[in-house]
Amino acid sequence: MQIKEQIESLRQELREHNHNYYVLDNATISDFEFDTKLKELQALEAKHPEFYDESSPTLRVGGTVTKNFDTVVHNERMYSLDNSYSKEDLEDWEKRMQRILGDAEVEFVCELKYDGASISITYEDGKLVRAVTRGDGFQGDDVTTNVKTIKSVPLQLKGDYPPKFDIRGEIVLPFEGFAQMNAERIENGEDPYMNPRNTASGSLKLQDSAAVAQRPLDCLLYSIVGQNTGITSQWQMLEKAREWGFKVPEVAKLSRSTDEVMAFVNQWDSGRHNLPYETDGVVVKINSIQHQDELGFTSKSPRWAMAYKFKAEQVSTLLNEITYQVGRTGSITPVANLVPVLLAGTTVKRASLHNADQIAKFDIREGDTVFVEKGGEIIPKIVGVDFEKRSQDSKPTEYITNCPECHEPLVRTEGDAKHYCVNYYGCPPQITGRIQHFISRKAMDIEGLGSETVELLYKEGLIDNYADLYTLTKEQVLPLERMAKKSAENLVKGVAESVKIPFERVLFGLGIRFVGETVAKKLARAYKNIDALMDASEESLVAVDEIGERIASSVVEFFNNETNRSIIARLKSYGLQFSLSEEQLENQTDKLKGLTIVVSGVFETVSRTELKKIIESNGGKVGSSISSKTAYLVAGDKMGPSKRTKAESLNVPIVTEGEFLEMVE
Ligand code: AMP
Ligand code: ZN
Repeated sequence: MQIKEQIESLRQELREHNHNYYVLDNATISDFEFDTKLKELQALEAKHPEFYDESSPTLRVGGTVTKNFDTVVHNERMYSLDNSYSKEDLEDWEKRMQRILGDAEVEFVCELKYDGASISITYEDGKLVRAVTRGDGFQGDDVTTNVKTIKSVPLQLKGDYPPKFDIRGEIVLPFEGFAQMNAERIENGEDPYMNPRNTASGSLKLQDSAAVAQRPLDCLLYSIVGQNTGITSQWQMLEKAREWGFKVPEVAKLSRSTDEVMAFVNQWDSGRHNLPYETDGVVVKINSIQHQDELGFTSKSPRWAMAYKFKAEQVSTLLNEITYQVGRTGSITPVANLVPVLLAGTTVKRASLHNADQIAKFDIREGDTVFVEKGGEIIPKIVGVDFEKRSQDSKPTEYITNCPECHEPLVRTEGDAKHYCVNYYGCPPQITGRIQHFISRKAMDIEGLGSETVELLYKEGLIDNYADLYTLTKEQVLPLERMAKKSAENLVKGVAESVKIPFERVLFGLGIRFVGETVAKKLARAYKNIDALMDASEESLVAVDEIGERIASSVVEFFNNETNRSIIARLKSYGLQFSLSEEQLENQTDKLKGLTIVVSGVFETVSRTELKKIIESNGGKVGSSISSKTAYLVAGDKMGPSKRTKAESLNVPIVTEGEFLEMVE
């Protein structure tokens, strides 16, 4: 075969698999095979730059850095939508339309109102040429390179598409991916993101498109605009868009009356809680494009469309007190302590106030009656104050200036949303927080020692840092509250045994800011021992795959600190692992690079932990639950039937222990 044809056929094949996987949610190839083909294509393209194609599936991984996003005028204006909140509102809208359309029968198309960042994407001759944010409706930012990394956005269309058109949709961050991103951030000592919508729209403006490619963004389309598209109804538009390869949710309904529209609204008002992404209402559109043209636009919105907003579940309650929490990295989080109140099925007692700006924005004060809301979001939030109920002698909240725990002045660096207590070695919750992190399951996993005991030990002056754990004696801990002879022995034994824990987990346990489990593994694999890592410069660190400047400077800062260096020296003298083991060095391969593998059940020849280690030392990632992104499920004995069913329904290949071990042979 000619090289050109070979490249073309690989591109075509990968496109098809991409579409099946990300748009239709129905994988037709294993991740492993996909990656192999992708690598093959990458290699061919690198060798033959003359066959470059801006729509090649290899461009999905990103890599282009945009310093400034160009402003682009929309081909056609992006309008807002009018809002309605009741059946009466809808009937009034229908009457207004009848004044223009006369007695013509109208049909309504009901769609969900996806809550994310709006986007307008231009296609020419079936190729994605530009993606622009909504901006002010007239012009927005050119975010083409970033949007191209979103896997459900087709770079090349199929079928009978018109030569040129714009398609509009919403870029969303599904809950599951959002929660996962936040879990990782918390583990890395970063603040979690507030909600999926803002995170989705923030993602579009990231300078590094490779970072965007890492985020589990999705793009849901709902409207095609342009001349001579041949489309005569909204319903047909949705169908055509699907045919051409776009992701258009199946949840939509053609209705003949406002009663039918209300039935759809009511169904999804509760049904939306089971959707994978956020929605904040229903959008009702007149089906016939001819009718739409007759109705036209007001100065800000189409007359032929109407948003019906879901009511966010909201209650009001009294805010008793604002307290402040100090995290293990010193970050301060204000917390609203509420009179307990029932909201969407759960009792809410506390809500995060995030930071000082958030309190100032709403002018939230102790003693206020506040509105608490649970929309699509997971954590309830305070959305405002009932000012009528505010008492005369209420005073504005003065944000604390000193740490509530150690009383040192707080610091807020420019660009940081939060205040920090920088008294790292003298602030009790930071000291105990670091030790608690060190002993936690994913780090040193010290048996016989829990978070409460750490606090007791610290209060009694027995420990000040994690190195002190290793000199504790049975006699010292025995007098502690609720400590018996047996538990004291277990504690000392558990600490002693932890010296066997492998290097990457020790590194994670040190609690370096932004160094989570994954980063710790990366660093351990790259530098192989702590001395090399301690000597590493920022330049050398950023050269490591997936290590950015922020992580690099945090690592350098950590190891430049004298206290940290002496603690590490002590840990070394107690025999902790500060380099990769011989075995790890021997077994490192890239065979499973980029693959997420889930392990379940009981195994015969290797333990589960060993199995996980094998996955990681071969460059793979251990997944906790099965999703369409899972490359393999390694099934042992006694695996639950639900895991199997889920894997089968998502076409995740299930392999036995033996088959898996052969793969990494
Ligand atoms: P608003 O910003 O409240 O005026 O609502 C208008 C926005 O709703 C549009 O800019 C779209 O981004 C968004 N939207 C979400 N889902 C849909 C949909 N199914 N049809 C039209 N617009 C939608
Ligand atoms: Zn402090």
